[in-house]
This record gives sequence, structure tokens and C-alpha cells, in this order.
Amino acid sequence: MEEQPNVVPIPEGRCSFCGETFSKRAMTKHLTSCREKNPPKPRGRAKPRKEKVFHLVVEGRYLPLYWMHLEMPAKAALLHLDAFLRRVWLECCGHMSAFTIQKTRYIAGSGIDSMWVDIGFKPGGEKDMNIALSKVLAPKLKFYHEYDFGTTTDLVLKVVSEHERALERKPIRILARNEPPQILCNVCGKIATQVCAQCIYEGKGWLCDKCGCKHECGEDMLLPVVNSPRVGMCGYTG
Ligand SMILES: [Zn+2]
Ligand SMILES: [Zn+2]
Ligand SMILES: [Zn+2]
Ligand SMILES: [Zn+2]
Repeated sequence: MEEQPNVVPIPEGRCSFCGETFSKRAMTKHLTSCREKNPPKPRGRAKPRKEKVFHLVVEGRYLPLYWMHLEMPAKAALLHLDAFLRRVWLECCGHMSAFTIQKTRYIAGSGIDSMWVDIGFKPGGEKDMNIALSKVLAPKLKFYHEYDFGTTTDLVLKVVSEHERALERKPIRILARNEPPQILCNVCGKIATQVCAQCIYEGKGWLCDKCGCKHECGEDMLLPVVNSPRVGMCGYTG
């Protein structure tokens, strides 16, 4: 799925601190200053305890129009990040997933399915995801995530910075996220609401409600258009 769907215009993203929208390019810089202006509100009377956090940016490796800025404690584990990505962007039917960080693979789940061994997936060199981010990440580091080793959704992540911040209620905070892209129906040019899980492989199959009813692959193949790099894949409905 290297092809980009026909999208107009390039979606901007929304800052979760001030609610304003910025281009993908401008967001990193904006967040650095906006974050300073919006320190976390203290809970109760206790002075908020500061902790080391990572600012990460994640995007679809082949679909960079889907992107998010995150902040999470350095002591959290890779499996927490995996669980978060699944919840927000990926989970359809409990597929396996992996991070690749400087040539080491970290796999979610303990058992390696024999099916993956059969198709040449070698268990052995991989590690468990139960490892703290602080042990494997550093500023400027780029790393990768795959969800589902069959119909894979590939993500690329980058560590923007590492800093001290008082913790919020939620361990992982979305600092900013892309606005839903407006993808056009391949048949009539109206806004697409559904996508065909088969035709998407040819870079088409984006359909409005009306054209969806008449689609040749049948309505069973149609998935909703959702704001995620897993849109149209497997049984993903958001
Ligand atoms: Zn802002
Ligand atoms: Zn699935
Ligand atoms: Zn249409
Ligand atoms: Zn189709």
C-alpha cells in the first residue's frame, strides 16, 4: 500500500493544549512552546512529582498523512506503547505486533504462532515488549512498529525529545493528532465514507454511500473510512 489515496487538502493536526490547528511541519515547534504555556494542573495540594517523559511522533510509514504526537513516561514499557497504538489506531482482531529498534525486534505476546514459523518468520532473536522505554529509546532515535504480520500496518516513530514533566492522570497523552483526511470517492468525487478492503490494494475502492451500494465487490467488503493508517485493512472499523 504505497499509494496515497486522493486526499484534499493535506490534513492539518490539532494541538491538544490550545485546540488550534497547525500543519504537520509546524506542529513540533508549536508543541514545544505551547507545552510550556500549559503546564499540567496540580492534583490536590501536593506539588506534582516530575518524571522523565519522552515526546514521540508517530506516523504511517507509507501513509504519513496519519500522524500523532505523544508524551509518555520513560519508565513505561514498550508494551504500553503497543497497547496504546492498538487502541487508538490499529486493533482489529488481536494480531501480533512488533517494534524494531536499532535492529532488535520486540514482539508482543509470548507465544510465536507456528504459522509464522512456517512462512519463514524466525523466532529467536526477538525480545519481549516488557522493557522500559528508557532502556531502548533516546532523543532523535527513529524506530518502527508493525501490526499484523499478514496485512501489515507499518508505523514509524521518532523520539522528538526527552524532558521532565509532572505526570498527568493518563500515562500516555496525545499532544496532537492529524485531522481526519478528506478522501474522495473514486467513482463520483464526493467525500468517501467507505473503502473496499479488496480494491484498496490497487489504490482505489474509496466510495461514498451512494456508490458503495453499487460497488462490484459487494457491500460485505466495505469498511468505514476512519482516521487511522489501518483504514481499509483486514476488518478494521476504528
Ligand atoms: Zn497549542
Ligand atoms: Zn484483523
Ligand atoms: Zn461516489
Ligand atoms: Zn472492491
